[in-house]
Amino acid sequence: MPEKTIFERIRDREVPATIVHEDEHCVAFKDITPQAPVHILVVPRKAIAQIGTAATTDREVLGHLLLTAAKVAKGEGISESGYRLVINNGADAGEAVPHLHVHLLGGRKLDWPPG
Ligand code: 5GP
Repeated sequence: MPEKTIFERIRDREVPATIVHEDEHCVAFKDITPQAPVHILVVPRKAIAQIGTAATTDREVLGHLLLTAAKVAKGEGISESGYRLVINNGADAGEAVPHLHVHLLGGRKLDWPPG
């Protein structure tokens, strides 16, 4: 059995996190090092390593992550002001945790292009 990632440990309540949403497919919690006033990670319960290795059978859960991120954004009151969804894939993108996660960032003006 491979060692659990930190996000699996949060999912399983072995490590504390501020969880703002959970359902049968995903868990959403506040990032420990927020890069914006709202910085939430939407994480599938299933241990999909990254978007680049997701399977076509993950289609439903992948769509669910995006719809959930939009729902959480609404709950955080940033639907009108705007927000950004980010998935880092691989070293050049700065991916640090090998468990797929969608960053929801908002609550301030975000620069483009990203650094
Ligand atoms: P990545 O760079 O892989 O796209 O993003 C990983 C994110 O996970 C980072 O923004 C980082 O701050 C966050 N993170 C890493 N460890 C923890 C943790 O233990 N708890 C929480 N809530 N967030 C974490």
